[in-house]
Amino acid sequence: MFIKPTFADAEAGYEDAEFVIFGAPFDGTSCFRSGSRRAPSAIRNASYNFESYNPKHDIDLCDVPFCDLGDAEVSVSVDETLVAVQSEVKRIIDDGKTPLMIGGEHSLTYACVKAFGDVGVIILDAHLDLRDEYAGSRQGHACVSRRIIETVGVENYVSLGVRSGAREEYDFARQNGVRFYSAEQVQSKGIVNVVQDIIKYLSTGKIYLSIDMDVIDPGYAPAVGTPEPFGLIPADIECIIQTLAPHIVGFDLVEISPDYDHGQTSLLGAKLIREFIAAKKGAGK
Ligand code: MN
Ligand code: MN
Repeated sequence: MFIKPTFADAEAGYEDAEFVIFGAPFDGTSCFRSGSRRAPSAIRNASYNFESYNPKHDIDLCDVPFCDLGDAEVSVSVDETLVAVQSEVKRIIDDGKTPLMIGGEHSLTYACVKAFGDVGVIILDAHLDLRDEYAGSRQGHACVSRRIIETVGVENYVSLGVRSGAREEYDFARQNGVRFYSAEQVQSKGIVNVVQDIIKYLSTGKIYLSIDMDVIDPGYAPAVGTPEPFGLIPADIECIIQTLAPHIVGFDLVEISPDYDHGQTSLLGAKLIREFIAAKKGAGK
């Protein structure tokens, strides 16, 4: 398969770019269906399917200055990889640009949030990811939300689309007042109401959005590390991106495992990244 070197329409140089894409091809702690290290290439390749013009936001991505740095250097060690990703994201933020990370596994999000420090975090995920430790590591993908809450505080954290976790994770969430919305709650309350709730709840107007692709129903996004039935529909995710875009200062999309795909999961991932850029740029018009 011919793999394009950069995300489609990411034609700007770093200096001029308002949005900076980079890949983080790391899946060292993945347990069930590993292979998300191949997602950055698969998503870049899929990105060439789409028109550059976005009619909903009246934005042509060819006119938006954004760049793709390629893949960050990752190591076999999760700790070393997190340090590398954190310093990359810090540089992008310090240069006044919006970072967009393509994972890789969900543990990488912790590095991005640490680079921001003071930020509200919204995680879209089928799983609570609140384990204190998993498979001998405190930095694995199943621990990422626990580490993030330790960094930003429980009042700056919300997850939605949740439908899986160990009893101890649900106990931790209840005992510590962790705000999360189950997939069922999203369906019954309606996504628009849930998003309004979240904006009111978070004490900051600066939001980091992390999309663990398993939040979406496996019928739409089958190629993920740990698929979980009864998920959200893609239009819910689109609504979240569109509504929150003006507040979002950093973004990632993680956990696609392309070996299990017929192409549709990578296409959806690429589309969500393109929707975010168009929505954010469109909101500033
Ligand atoms: Mn996750
Ligand atoms: Mn998950």
